[in-house]
Amino acid sequence: MTYLFIADLHLSPEHPRLVRGFLDLLVHYQNKNTQLYILGDWFNAWIGDDYSAAWLDELVEALKQFHHAGNQIYFQVGNRDFALGQRFLKQFHASLLPDIDTLTIGHLHIRLEHGDLLCTDDVSYQKFRKIIRNPLLLGFLKSMPLSFRQKLANGFRQKSAATKQVKSYAIMDVNQQAVVQAMQSVDVLIHGHTHRPNIHSLNNKKRIVLGDWRAHEAQILEIDDNQPDQDLQLKTWCY
Ligand code: MN
Repeated sequence: MTYLFIADLHLSPEHPRLVRGFLDLLVHYQNKNTQLYILGDWFNAWIGDDYSAAWLDELVEALKQFHHAGNQIYFQVGNRDFALGQRFLKQFHASLLPDIDTLTIGHLHIRLEHGDLLCTDDVSYQKFRKIIRNPLLLGFLKSMPLSFRQKLANGFRQKSAATKQVKSYAIMDVNQQAVVQAMQSVDVLIHGHTHRPNIHSLNNKKRIVLGDWRAHEAQILEIDDNQPDQDLQLKTWCY
């Protein structure tokens, strides 16, 4: 069985190459008995499971085929697509994982998360996250018309792009204390979000940071359950 980990694809109709790269990935792993883990920010924005568009329909069809070929899809929300839910995922029998989840492959104990919760130095973001992720507010927003949610999402994106230019590089990375705490009872931590793909060694543990999907390539992780002891390496997926 192949475990495949990806994050931060930021798919949108504005970047068809990324969508194509993801569709190609599904084809490439279709016959490999794949457990596909998408650790958040699959989409650049998500205004609700009732949103529909032609490019998304094509994606859903490919995901259905991927599932029918014997593969499974797991999804954790990111800071951009936290409104994505079961209604969208059930079309291709994907599972919605909690924000923090664990997985065991062979004797490897692995923790999975998007990564934004580890960035505790970014106090203003953590405050914003608490508000926007409140189930009551999220429920209220989901009850608003699509067009209103679209406008709101555009506003958020502009604001986020503007503040990112002001915040320092260090503030937007993980906090070491938060990492040590997160890795207490696991051997490996896999996350994305920071867009700094790398494998960090901490004592005998590993923190694997998945890459964001750039113009032509992305850093992804593959673990084969027959040889979980293999030297874990990021792999470049080109498109
Ligand atoms: Mn993110």
